[in-house]
Amino acid sequence: MKGEEWLFKINDHIYVVDFQGFEYPHCNCLLVKDDINCLLDNSPGKDDLEYLSKLPIDIIINSHGHIDHYLCNERFSYSKIYMHQADQAITQSADKYLEAFGLKMLTQNPVLQQLYLNSVKYCTTMIDDTISEGQIINLGSTKIQVLHLPGHSPGHCGFLFPDKGFIFTADIDISSFGPWYANLNSSITDYAQSIERIIAMKPDFIISGHGEALIKDNLPHKLTNYRDIIFARQERIIELLYRGYHSLYDLARQCPIYIKFPRPQEVFFIYEQVMILAHLRYMEERGQLIREADRYYLKDGIRPAKSYSV
Ligand SMILES: [Zn+2]
Repeated sequence: MKGEEWLFKINDHIYVVDFQGFEYPHCNCLLVKDDINCLLDNSPGKDDLEYLSKLPIDIIINSHGHIDHYLCNERFSYSKIYMHQADQAITQSADKYLEAFGLKMLTQNPVLQQLYLNSVKYCTTMIDDTISEGQIINLGSTKIQVLHLPGHSPGHCGFLFPDKGFIFTADIDISSFGPWYANLNSSITDYAQSIERIIAMKPDFIISGHGEALIKDNLPHKLTNYRDIIFARQERIIELLYRGYHSLYDLARQCPIYIKFPRPQEVFFIYEQVMILAHLRYMEERGQLIREADRYYLKDGIRPAKSYSV
């Protein structure tokens, strides 16, 4: 069995429970052993879970309401569990989870809906209390400050360790997949602002929720590039609208977000549509788009950046 010696130690109290690679439904978690023992996010690999479940974990803080961050909460029935209010509803009902992920609006196929719930290993979780922007969680010699960093989901939070100079950024993970905002209440504006907030805070390093856990080298550059993936997608969507793709379905078939659909394609086709909808909302808010029934048109004067240079 794995033990403490396997964990990546940040200091005498803080350990990264990292999950190598991208394998759903797992994520990198942080363990704080202090006067109060705390686990930040809770979907570790099997061996780490065995180790963690033998510890007296007093509190678990979930960064947000996606299963790959709270999957193992039920193994810690004695722990007090915290999550931002805005993400709690989807952790209490499979129907609400499907609804948030577009699996109600964009498909009425019960087989696909059930397949989705099975494949994401949907389960509900107990939540004892909420967390909110600016809240300080005092664990003894370790203090954690809650940063509400919405966009990925409305209740998505990061965690600043004020006297240690780093932030646990959860699903602002700087992965090559790019920012994910495929909930119907995800927001591109919020996502970009959350990334910019992290850049402005100038942390020494971040701990990311997926992939390589500790990211330190060229951090501002990496965060900026990660944010700019959103704007590159935006540009591709403007180009498609300009070239005559006006329905959500036709836009999504051109795959401007993922470029090439990952598997399972049925699910990623829905993610693609929900993320395109986030871009269309973003453009509508800026007065760049006209919507007529289910069709979208660029307002006069809005053209792809490339077309200005030809
Ligand atoms: Zn997530």
